[in-house]
Amino acid sequence: MSQAGSAPVPPPVEGDFYDVAALVDEEDRLLLKRVRTFMEEHVAPVINVYWGKAEFPFEVIPAMAELGIAGLAYHGHGCPGRSFLADGFVALELARIDPSMATFMGVHGGLAMGSIHLCGSEEQKAEWVPKLLEGTSGFAFGITEPEHGSDATHMETSAYRDGDEWVINGEKTWSTGMHKAPFELIFARTSGDAGDGEGITAFLVPTKSPGFEVVEFLWTFNMPTDHAHVRLTDVRVPHASVFGGEGKGLGVVQLFFNENRIRQAASSLGAAEYCLDRAIAYAGERAPFGKPLSHNQGIQFPIVELVTQCEMLRALIRQTAWKMDEYGAFSVSKEVSMCNYWANRLCCEAADRAMQVFGGLGYSRHQQFEHIYRHHRRYRITEGSEEIQMRRVAGYLFGFMRQQAPKGVTSADGQR
Ligand SMILES: Cc1cc2nc3c(=O)[nH]c(=O)nc-3n(C[C@H](O)[C@H](O)[C@H](O)COP(=O)(O)OP(=O)(O)OC[C@H]3O[C@@H](n4cnc5c(N)ncnc54)[C@H](O)[C@@H]3O)c2cc1C
Repeated sequence: MSQAGSAPVPPPVEGDFYDVAALVDEEDRLLLKRVRTFMEEHVAPVINVYWGKAEFPFEVIPAMAELGIAGLAYHGHGCPGRSFLADGFVALELARIDPSMATFMGVHGGLAMGSIHLCGSEEQKAEWVPKLLEGTSGFAFGITEPEHGSDATHMETSAYRDGDEWVINGEKTWSTGMHKAPFELIFARTSGDAGDGEGITAFLVPTKSPGFEVVEFLWTFNMPTDHAHVRLTDVRVPHASVFGGEGKGLGVVQLFFNENRIRQAASSLGAAEYCLDRAIAYAGERAPFGKPLSHNQGIQFPIVELVTQCEMLRALIRQTAWKMDEYGAFSVSKEVSMCNYWANRLCCEAADRAMQVFGGLGYSRHQQFEHIYRHHRRYRITEGSEEIQMRRVAGYLFGFMRQQAPKGVTSADGQR
């Protein structure tokens, strides 16, 4: 784990590799180098084989597992136990070449592993951690409903106890990864009233259970369409499926979203930097009207502004991740949200700018910008939309919230 000052500060290595180098230990530094090499040598040359295809390249998962980046920042049960700082910069490295890999790392490693590690029972950890580390299994998340997204405390899916079993009824929508997921973590109200932060319970539900039905896969701006509308009719699960404690479901969500948001911010930053690096290089080559585009202030200044924002954001992400490592993941939840919503917006702006600099080519699938734009545009809506994260920052600023982990894994206020 990173401990600033615990070891002599190593000299900078290989250009920008890494301003973060002074803060991560030797093992993490080597990992970051391996990830960069892997992405540059193995992913970059074949990336356009699957761009625009309807599927994430699942065949790459074992290689990611081999690299040790399927497991993320968690200790014990065979998890490597890295820092938020190192993981953030792993995500950045992945996103610089292929944002969908960073997304996978975030969803599979961050959300799935994060939730198991933070909130799973010992039995659930023993069962799930090896599978997640190997990349051989996973689960989808069923929080959002057709009528309730940001206001999760009002969800209508409910469950009641019947002996040693729970019976779940309701509908979920936008459940990502349902085309493959053998399980879905379903959130259902088990006590309390609509609007209460407590009383929602998470259940690990096999997707093959009787009464579990995928109604449709929804088409989105970012096809592939693995986002499902799901219906549960009298689905029965054993009591051992309860995840994170009875009535504590929204606390589970808050904890793993908070942790994942910093990695996701770093991956948006990585993709933004990729777009701007490419735009700068192309502006030096392309020469309409007989001189390189880079000679025009109309080309320069928008890029200058975006690169400036990247530099500032990089510093804030680094500081925030470091504080999470030093003082606890929830100690800087306000800053985590700041990093996240800003990074997602910045990435979209950088992709849009790169498209503009590349002209028609930028709009095509021969470049990666439209792919990056589609991927990262969703983050302004999902896992706590831009507005919900700004609401969170405002909550801390104006005294409606305090920086603390949900007590006993219960939600502080129920917002996403
Ligand atoms: C591609 C994709 C993948 C997804 N994957 C999953 C998944 O795997 N599992 C899952 O459970 N869900 C998933 N979602 C759902 C996602 O989490 C929700 O879309 C999100 O929480 C917003 O909910 P909503 O769409 O119902 O918007 P609403 O809650 O209806 O809000 C509509 C708009 O109003 C804004 N808004 C809401 N309240 C306020 C306020 N108080 N002040 C200002 N603005 C406000 C919102 O930010 C949003 O922009 C996914 C969505 C997409 C698009």
